[in-house]
Amino acid sequence: MSGSTRRKPSVSTAYHEAGHAIAAARIGFTFDRVLLGYHAESQSLGGVWRTEWSGFPPWPKWMHAIVLMCGPFAEARYRKQSIGKIWLARSSESDARAFAQLGIKDDEVIAHRRNAGLLLQEQWSAVRRTASDLLAHGGLSFEDIEDRVIWPADRNAWRSKT
Ligand SMILES: [Zn+2]
Repeated sequence: MSGSTRRKPSVSTAYHEAGHAIAAARIGFTFDRVLLGYHAESQSLGGVWRTEWSGFPPWPKWMHAIVLMCGPFAEARYRKQSIGKIWLARSSESDARAFAQLGIKDDEVIAHRRNAGLLLQEQWSAVRRTASDLLAHGGLSFEDIEDRVIWPADRNAWRSKT
């Protein structure tokens, strides 16, 4: 991609990717790094979400569900738009597709949606910081993200809530 055709990442893209990254680190998902960049495949500007799963695969579906939701949810919160509208927007296309492939039952979707909302509420200042650092640096390592998470006294409390 030549420099002339490359658009600048938007603030809402940064919030979207920060939402995924902070949610992932908070619930115990590990990954390589998160980058902001041009996503050639979809011909739209989006976060290039590069992940490297490690730990104890296969990861539970609820983890995937929450991490997928928190990107569009953070974008919606930043843009002061409804989650439903952002979920259907092009910036959420790959998340919505991946979510559908998880095959989660409707009643569980409601629970995951609530937990994703609670997580973002808890981590909003971390998401804001991460978004502005992503815009400044273009990418952050997993350790950078982990440093920005607001950790409760018991890091694993999230697991027992779900
Ligand atoms: Zn996303």
